[in-house]
Amino acid sequence: MIEVIDNIQSFKQVRSQFGNMNVGLVPTMGNLHLGHLSLIEKSHAENDVTIISIFINPKQFGPNEDFADYPRTLEQDIKKIKDLSFKKKIIIFTPTTKDIFPDGFDTKISVGEISHKLCGASRPGHFDGVTTVVYKLFKITQATCAYFGQKDYQQYKIIEKMIIDLELPIKIKLCPIIRDQHGLALSSRNQYLKDPAEITQALKLNETLKKIATHLNQRSSSFDFKIPSHLKPNEAWEYCEILNADNLSKEIDNNCNIVILGALRVNQTRLIDNQIIMRR
Ligand code: AMP
Repeated sequence: MIEVIDNIQSFKQVRSQFGNMNVGLVPTMGNLHLGHLSLIEKSHAENDVTIISIFINPKQFGPNEDFADYPRTLEQDIKKIKDLSFKKKIIIFTPTTKDIFPDGFDTKISVGEISHKLCGASRPGHFDGVTTVVYKLFKITQATCAYFGQKDYQQYKIIEKMIIDLELPIKIKLCPIIRDQHGLALSSRNQYLKDPAEITQALKLNETLKKIATHLNQRSSSFDFKIPSHLKPNEAWEYCEILNADNLSKEIDNNCNIVILGALRVNQTRLIDNQIIMRR
């Protein structure tokens, strides 16, 4: 029931057989871990067909980022999916860069303000790369629902905005963050952490965000929603912000949902995480 398809043309032929069935899409850059697999399992549970795209998107990496080093592990990825023994149809879609961005490709999907803060501030153009490729994957796959992880919460909100603004005929679902036994959010970039000292530093990310969440949970008024001085992030943090979870603005009132987002640098490795506080 698992089919691997490495080009758009063959994919479209196969896709046409599924007509208006429920088709789930899980966009990934490969190097699959339990976080990705949880998205795939959810899509499999909710749809007739699940498409897992594996595409390392050059447009979402900055010139000095880790595009060249990003782990490419297609054979292991396929095995991990096979080992889950899914009952329903699974398509692993692995287009090449030339297939998605042929010579002369010159279009950009760019969501406004929400793309420029947080990760967008330190990674200019990153989210334009994400939305351009996700839009194209939505069009190619004609998926009815796509699955994204809460770990990349800003990415999820940007894709949600793109769908609303462009009236794209697709639903999206936010799936919980899968963590290791110490609380570190699983990420393909965790393998860049070299030694126990770096891992201990990385754990500070979730530990601090959790402590801030506990602190905020004890406040009754939004006026008190500030990072307490003993938890103020040091210079290793790229950002740590308490924002309105619906639109990532600073406007927080007494009953909106809240998200605390952080980005921490551990030497060369950049890690992100967040905690959501649901208040309605
Ligand atoms: P990536 O391959 O890093 O582009 O991630 C593909 C999808 O997996 C995105 O929707 C991520 O948010 C999601 N994802 C990555 N890490 C995790 C995790 N630890 N838990 C849940 N989802 C995740």
